[in-house]
Amino acid sequence: MRPRKIPQRKCVACQEMMPKKELIRIVRSPQGDIQIDLTGKKPGRGAYLCGKVSCFKLAKKSKAFERALKAPVAPEIYDRLEQDFIKVEDEFQAAKAMAGDDDDDGK
Ligand SMILES: [Zn+2]
Repeated sequence: MRPRKIPQRKCVACQEMMPKKELIRIVRSPQGDIQIDLTGKKPGRGAYLCGKVSCFKLAKKSKAFERALKAPVAPEIYDRLEQDFIKVEDEFQAAKAMAGDDDDDGK
C-alpha cells in the first residue's frame, strides 16, 4: 500500500526530517573518534545534521551532539568538526546542485 519511502533522518539541531542523503552524518567510531562521515557507512553511532553551518552551531550550543552520540564532545573536537563541516558543506551543496534533480525548493 505505502509507496517506497526514502529513508529519513532528523537533523539533531533543527529537528527537521530530511532524506538521509541530504544530511551530513557525524559518526563516533567504536574507537571513540568523532568525525564527519560523508559515505554514511562508517561504523559507529551517528548524528545527522542538515548541511547548514547554523545548524552545526546550534547543535554545538544545545549539546545535541553529546545527546545523539551519547558521548562528551571536547571543545577541540568541535573546532575540528566545525572546520571540516564548513569545508564539507561547500562540497555538499555543490554536489547537490550538480545532481540537480530536486533542488528547486526555496527558490
Ligand atoms: Zn538542521
